[in-house]
Amino acid sequence: YSTAAAIEEPINPSVKVHYNQLLINGQFVDAASGKTFPTLDPRTGDVITHVAEGEAEDINRAVSAARKAFDDGPWPKMTAYERSRIMLRFADLLEKHNDEIAALETWDNGKPYEQSAKIEVPMLTRLFRYYAGWADKIHGLTIPVDGSLHVQTLHEPIGVAGQIIPWNFPLLMFGWKVGPALACGNTVVLKTAEQTPLSALYVSKLFHEAGLPPGVLNVVSGFGPTAGAALASHMEVDKLAFTGSTDTGKVILQLAAKSNLKPVTLELGGKSPFIVCEDADVDKAVEMAHFALFFNQGQCCCAGSRTFVHERVYDEFLEKAKARAVERVVGDPFKEGIEQGPQVDSDQFEKILGYIRSGIEGGATLEAGGERFGAKGYYIKPTVFSNVQDDMLIAKEEIFGPVQSILKFKDLDEVIRRSNASRYGLAAGVFTHNIDTANTLTRALRVGSVWINCFDVFDAAIPFGGYKMSGHGREKGIYSLSNYLQVKAVVTPLKNP
Ligand code: ADP
Repeated sequence: YSTAAAIEEPINPSVKVHYNQLLINGQFVDAASGKTFPTLDPRTGDVITHVAEGEAEDINRAVSAARKAFDDGPWPKMTAYERSRIMLRFADLLEKHNDEIAALETWDNGKPYEQSAKIEVPMLTRLFRYYAGWADKIHGLTIPVDGSLHVQTLHEPIGVAGQIIPWNFPLLMFGWKVGPALACGNTVVLKTAEQTPLSALYVSKLFHEAGLPPGVLNVVSGFGPTAGAALASHMEVDKLAFTGSTDTGKVILQLAAKSNLKPVTLELGGKSPFIVCEDADVDKAVEMAHFALFFNQGQCCCAGSRTFVHERVYDEFLEKAKARAVERVVGDPFKEGIEQGPQVDSDQFEKILGYIRSGIEGGATLEAGGERFGAKGYYIKPTVFSNVQDDMLIAKEEIFGPVQSILKFKDLDEVIRRSNASRYGLAAGVFTHNIDTANTLTRALRVGSVWINCFDVFDAAIPFGGYKMSGHGREKGIYSLSNYLQVKAVVTPLKNP
């Protein structure tokens, strides 16, 4: 492992906390209770700042503001072109402030600054340009029917969207949720994750500078069982979108059902297979499988966390995968060339170390890593297990950390069966140059995304979502719009009766 990079102040001198209050009706305000909570720097565990802690009363205030901006306007009543232009101006501001936003994201989350600055903030910008493009292209159909009737459909916004996001990609989750909701003319109350509240507040302020009217986008920081649950069970919220764990997804769906039956989209956990076939170029497969698992400190719902390798290439793959993990550059995410920063917080850090212990106790072979990195912060050495069996906890449960589990397989039918023997169905990677193998696996895998000879391709236009207990509905792309639209059928006789 790279020698411990000293933990330093952020390298980007412009990084500072601009906003730490709730954003309701276009104003930054304290929580009604006056409470705050600390958000921590995962490099050290030190407090970055204290943030206003929203609870039910704050959610009520935010929903009222969103309700008014929806019912009385201006948002759904503006022309679609005006909405689109505000979103485009927001994208320009994101581009202008790219590096500050990236630094804030890295500070709060721990992901490498280069990843924030070169991938994630540019992707966020791209997402808003993509959705701005949809705003004025949403329309219904005219439908031929029996009888002398004119039949049309109107595609209307649903109303107030409640959105609850996680901490692993705070900005991208902001974009996946807020982008389609606003393009379709809805208003939003967003509940950010308690680990990473800062970047959404900053970009939402920029959105208002771009001309977003007050009340259209409200951001409430706070905890799940208080702020999150209040939003999920609110009677005046018309639609709910959630990304997070499968267990919390179940709670969210119950809260929605027990309150007003608001429709819910869920993007939940995964245990995605990454399948290295017998014809694979091993060096390339190793690199792609490594990326599929270790990207973002392993904190991806779609991480390729079951690396299935054909027995013919297994030994070579294992040696090289182990060497690659040992070479992975771990350290202060603000330093250049760092591939892996700290995990987001001590809960995640402890949970991952617990899974590593369970892998060892369960009889998997620890090939690399297996312990913390350095003495401070939430860093974990890139870890590789071989001889992993399907019934081990590390092969069944989502670890959400830098722990690669390598499993051996003999033939395609077997790997299909084992890949699908999971309660999850989010994504899969397939590494082969044989088109028949690729086609067979693509059709057989019960997952929402198949990446062939690639992984984690997140273009704004590509739909993403899960089969089975990985969720309901699709985000991004044209498919995401239907989450935020009602269809109204309108029938008019062609001749007055
Ligand atoms: P993780 O365990 O990875 O943090 P969670 O699913 O618990 O994932 O969290 C994802 C989001 O869901 C966060 O914004 C969190 O505050 C929120 N959340 C957690 N519990 C609840 C709950 N009971 N009701 C509503 N939201 C919740």
